[in-house]
Order: sequence, then C-alpha cells, then structure tokens
Amino acid sequence: MADAADAQGSRAGEGDAAVRVLPVDGMHCAACASKVERAAKGVAGVREATVSFAARRARIAFDPRAVDLAQIAGAVRRAGFTLDIARDPEVRAAREAADARLLRLRVAVGAALSLPLVVIAMSHGAIPALDGPAMPWVQLALATPVYLWCGWPIHAAALARLRTFDADMNTLVALGTSVAFASSAWTLLAGGAAHAGHAGHSGHALTFEAAAVILVFVLLGRLLEARATARAGEALRALSTAAVPAARVVVDGAEREIAAAEIEAGMLVVVRPGERIPIDGTVMRGESEVDESLLTGEPMPRLRRAGERVFAGSLNTVGALEIEAGCAADETMLAQIAGLVDEAQSTKASIARTADRVAAVFVPIVLAIALGAVVAWLLLAPEEIRRARAVEALVSVLVVACPCALGLATPVAIMVASGRAAALGVLFRRANAFELLAGVGRVAFDKTGTLTEGRPAVTAVVPAHGWSEEALIGLAAAAEVRSEHAVARGIVAEARARGIHVEEPTAFTAFAGRGVHAKVLAHTVEVGNAAWMRECGVTVDAHGSDGSGATRVFVAADGAFVGSIALEDRVRDDARETIAALRALHVEPMLVTGDAEQPAGAVAKALDIDPAAVHASMTPEGKAALVARFAEEPRVAAFVGDGLNDAAALAVARPGIAMGGGTDLAKTSADILLVTDDLRRVPEAIALSRATLRVIRQNLAWAFGYNLVLIPLAAGALYPWTGWMLPPVAASAAMALSSVSVVANSLRLRRAVVMPRG
Ligand code: ADP
Ligand code: MG
Repeated sequence: MADAADAQGSRAGEGDAAVRVLPVDGMHCAACASKVERAAKGVAGVREATVSFAARRARIAFDPRAVDLAQIAGAVRRAGFTLDIARDPEVRAAREAADARLLRLRVAVGAALSLPLVVIAMSHGAIPALDGPAMPWVQLALATPVYLWCGWPIHAAALARLRTFDADMNTLVALGTSVAFASSAWTLLAGGAAHAGHAGHSGHALTFEAAAVILVFVLLGRLLEARATARAGEALRALSTAAVPAARVVVDGAEREIAAAEIEAGMLVVVRPGERIPIDGTVMRGESEVDESLLTGEPMPRLRRAGERVFAGSLNTVGALEIEAGCAADETMLAQIAGLVDEAQSTKASIARTADRVAAVFVPIVLAIALGAVVAWLLLAPEEIRRARAVEALVSVLVVACPCALGLATPVAIMVASGRAAALGVLFRRANAFELLAGVGRVAFDKTGTLTEGRPAVTAVVPAHGWSEEALIGLAAAAEVRSEHAVARGIVAEARARGIHVEEPTAFTAFAGRGVHAKVLAHTVEVGNAAWMRECGVTVDAHGSDGSGATRVFVAADGAFVGSIALEDRVRDDARETIAALRALHVEPMLVTGDAEQPAGAVAKALDIDPAAVHASMTPEGKAALVARFAEEPRVAAFVGDGLNDAAALAVARPGIAMGGGTDLAKTSADILLVTDDLRRVPEAIALSRATLRVIRQNLAWAFGYNLVLIPLAAGALYPWTGWMLPPVAASAAMALSSVSVVANSLRLRRAVVMPRG
C-alpha cells in the first residue's frame, strides 16, 4: 500500500510519530497508570504517553527511528507492569523475520558443509586425494557442526517431546539423523580410521553425509514452507495494518484528536482527503470517492455521500467527510477481520497440532516398520552389507515417513482460502464454514433487505371510513418510529415527506415478523400484517388484495381497524445476476419470507425463482424450523438473511450467511458475513469453498500416497528384485518436497476466482 505511512498514523501535532494503543497488565489503581506513563515517557524517542486505568490501555506516540516498541515495553517492565506488545503486528513481523534469518543461516551453513561431504562420499576412490586415511576425520569435522548446530532446532524439539514421553515429526528426523551420525562416529572412533575408510568402500558404513543432508533438506523445507505460509497470510495482514491508530472527532463544535480505540458509537468523526476512515458509520456531511478495495475487493473507488455507509480501513480519496460512528472501534468490520488474522496466526499453531495428532498415530507405526526393516536386513542380507544396509534402511524409513505434509494439508488450504475470501469481501467466521458452504445444493434467501433493497416506499394509503390519509400515516408513523424494520422506516419516511408531525410513543414493543404494538397519546396502536391483526383481535375490513406486488400492513387504534398502507420495495440490482450465477453452479435459489404470498410471488417472478421454492408468511420461528429441516435434507441449503427476524434461522442454518448491512444480531448469528450487501458474493463464496475442498482433498491424497509408496521403498522392499533401495539423502529430499508441494498447491487458492465482477 502506498499509504502505509498514513496507516502508521502520521497526524498533525505529532509530526511523523507512530501511534499505538496497547493493553497494559498489572495496574491496580490510577496511581499505577501514571507510573506506567512516566516509565514510557522516560524513554528517549517517546513523544507522548497516556494511560487509561479504566480501559487498561496505553496510547503511545513515538518516533520509530529513535526507539522501538520493545524498548518501551522494557522500560514499562522495569517499572513493574506489562505492556503487551506481542499482539502488535509489527512486533510479530519483526520476530518472525528474525526467526527466518536464523533459519536461513542454518540452511546456508549446513549446505556449505554438506556439499564437500557429498563429494567425498560419492568419489568412492575415483579421486585419490579424497581417499586418504585422514578423510573420515575430515568427514566427521564437516558433519559435526551440521548435526549439532544446524540441526539444533529439530533435536531440541524432539528432546522437549521426549520429556513428556511424546513423539512428533521432529522425533523421526532427530532419531534418523542421530542413528546416521552416531553409527558413523562410533565406527570411526571405535574401529579406527583405517578400518572405517575401508568399510566406507564396501558397505557405506559411514553415513555422515546422509545425516547432514537430511537435516539441511528438512530445514530448507521448513524455510520454504514458512515463506509460503507467510504469503498465505498476507491478504489478512494487509487488512490488519489498515486500522487507523488516531482519529479526529468533533466535541462541542471543536475538533479534537483521540486514539481510534476510544471512538464510540454516535461520535462525529472527521476524515480529511487522503486519510483512512477509522470507523464504520454513516456519512453525515460531505462527499468523496472512497476506495473500499481492501474490504470488498472492488477496485474502483465509490462515491459516498450523506446517508451512505462507510467502513473503517477504506481510503478516503479527494473529499472531506464527517461520519457518525455506527459502532465502537473494536466492533468494526475491519476489527472482525483483524480477529481473523489472529485466527490465521493460531491456524499456524493448529497446523502444528494437526501434524502432531497425525504423528501420534503415525510415529509408533513408522518405528515398528523401521525396526522390522532393521531386523529383516540383519537376518536376511549377506554378511558384508548387513550392518550398513540396516542402518541405511532405518534412517530412510524414519526420514521419509515424516507426516509433515499430512499435517499441512487442511490448515494451510483453509488459511489461504480465508485470505482470499476476505479480499473478496466475505468473512468466514469458522473454519468449517468452507466445508458447509461447499456442500450446499440450495440457497434460501430472505426477501426484505436481502433480495430487495430493504427501503420500501409507501405507494398507497387506504384509510377506513372516518379517517384521513394524514391521520392514518401520522398514527402509524408514531407507532413505528422506534422500530428498526424496513416497513417502519418506509412509513416514518412517508410521514416526514408529507410534513406530518410524528409523535413520540409512550410505550413500544416489536413482534418480529408480525408488527408492533405502541401507545401514542393515550391510544393503543397496532401496525402489522394480517396475522398480527388476527392475533390482536382486530377485524380487518379491507377489500382483499389489490393483486400488485406491494406489501400491505394494517393499522388498528384502540382495537379498531383504521386503514391499511401499501409499500413497495425495489429488487436489488445484483439479485438477478446472483440467481443466474447460482444456477450455473447447479445451486437452486429459494425464497423464505415473513411477507405475504403476493409480494413474495412478485419478487420470485421478477427473479425467475421457482414458485414451488417460495415460502411466504413465515414467522421467525417458522423460518428457523424450515431452515433446520433444509439442513437434514439431501440438498443442503444455506440461508441468507439480514433482519432480527432472520437471526434464529441464521443460527440453525448450515451455513447461515448475513448481509453486511443487516442487524447486529443477524451478523453475530451467522457463520459467514458479507462485508457489503453485494449478493454476488454468495455464488463467489460457494465457488471458493468448493475450490478449497478440492485442494484439501488433493493435498490429503498426495500426502498419504507419498507415504504409502515411499516407506516400503525406503525399507528396501524392492531390493531383493532390483538391488535398489531409496537412499537416505533422496528420502529426505522427497520429504521436504512433499510438504512444499502441499503448500504450493494450497497457494493456488489465492487466485481462485470465480465470477466476473461488475
Ligand atoms: P422478511 O422475511 O421479508 O424480511 P419480516 O419477517 O421482517 O419480513 O416481516 C414479515 C411481515 O411482518 C412484514 O412483511 C410486515 O408485513 C410485518 N411486519 C414486521 N415487522 C413490522 C413492523 N415493524 N411494522 C409493520 N409490519 C411489520
Ligand atoms: Mg429481512
């Protein structure tokens, strides 16, 4: 990103300082907070430090060229408190970079020392200079640092495991290379150089080069793997660094700068041209082209003006915007994505865990096979090659059987796919959502706010005898003014448009999927659908349906019917394209709505949805029951919804997909979240999930197949017929290669799209 400097938080007043808000542990009182402040401010390069005891957070502005976060954390630690910098993306990146550097050094040193080892071992007396009695000692000298220093991470991990009587892939490699190294060293030291040199010709009793090369290959494999997984997490990391550390808010008419973490819902935030937007909210004033590509994958900036929603992390290009914060800083869509990054980090941990679980089953089997091979070689092979071949088979089997690729097969693919999905504007909130969505054969859509825009406009007002249109609208609007429902907003908007004063209700209750009950100026008022009127004991003397696709709601005052209001909602622009894309994926669209048959049928007709797949007049409980039944049927259905009335259905759906503009309850109930309201992301997400599952299956097949074929070869199963067995060095190359190919296969998902984007 060209604006990375901006993301670091260059703000007026603090020059080019970096600003961070970080958690502080160990504070007991406000006095502790000022001690932390003093400790941080005492570090040269720190410009400003404010610590909130209540929030247990420190806001630190510092010059990144003069001081780094670790030094500041050190000063805070000496004062007796903990500044939690481990979660800071840059600190994490720095630590990972240092680890990678050391690993690269180990590989480089190991390779440089292994090369002459291989040359000596291969010369077999062809080069006299390499065949002297001193040569075995040279081999020992070259192999020892590789075995001890380069291989240390592997040995240390294996030892740590041994202490808990556990084994993992490190155990196999450590054991294999130790056998190779120790048996050679023993031959040399016990039998003397002359004897060892001789044995080296006849039976390869010296396997120094195998021990060294295996370790180098395993480390090289890890290096490549680490690079590839880092690349896999890149898309997610790009999102987390887009969080803006500081923001300007308007308080009592004056602009004030605060940490973005301190923004709360309802605050008025000012964003200047070229700055990133710090919070999700609604534009109150100004207009500007906003680049939302980071969140939605949409490359073209969009014009955003008063009344429209904007998201934290998107880039304001040319205009100035005043935004009313729609949530607190840690509740933005971006923060949720940052949560995903954390999950991706723990995915790395879970990669290790999966691999270890596999290893727990695998290792004993492999040890048994290796031992079997040793026994067979010792019993069956001719005397002179017996010992050397037994060692070789043991080493090869141990090394080739490492289940690294098996452990990587699923989690790496999920991680890459999560990054890809986030770039497309889809959040998979659980790893198993990919599996669920890939298996979907139908998608049930909610109508209002999902297939339609959710901004119904009043098209007809039909007052009962003795009532005027104005009186009817005014009463209905007063009852609805506190409702979040699309119908309610339409009625209130109509009242305002007609210049009717909207009374504040003294009591208000919403009944999801049915209507509202309110007290307005000593009258009880009910507004809702026909079922709601029946429930309230109101007789509706309206003249049937008018045959149009409009939604009709009825209004009652003090138990008597006073009129009906018709509203019409526009079908979303992207709905048609979405339905067509689903059909292309052989996914059947369905419609599930709380609205009546008529308007449901009109939308279904406009979108070419099969009338048999339309379920109208569903209560929220009815929706949930229906969706739960879909999960049992052979053609599993996903459910896409937005409203309070959809939350229950979203929770039982496997999977539930929530619209970005939907209610919070809907969003927290869903497995998958569309960042914006673009329906075309639904077929894209399905295609991506299917691709992900395909990659996982390929990975598993490859990893299993590779072990299945190579273990017998390493044990020497073909030797009696061909005189050939897999040499230890080749075994280690194959092992490293199989892990790398699993990761590389998964990386293909980074480019897995999917549909043409409009
Ligand atoms: P959908 O499933 O299409 O999103 P809902 O389940 O939210 O619709 O609502 C179903 C029907 O209940 C609406 O079409 C409307 O007739 C009625 N209704 C729900 N809430 C309200 C409300 N606040 N005011 C008036 N009518 C409502
Ligand atoms: Mg809805």
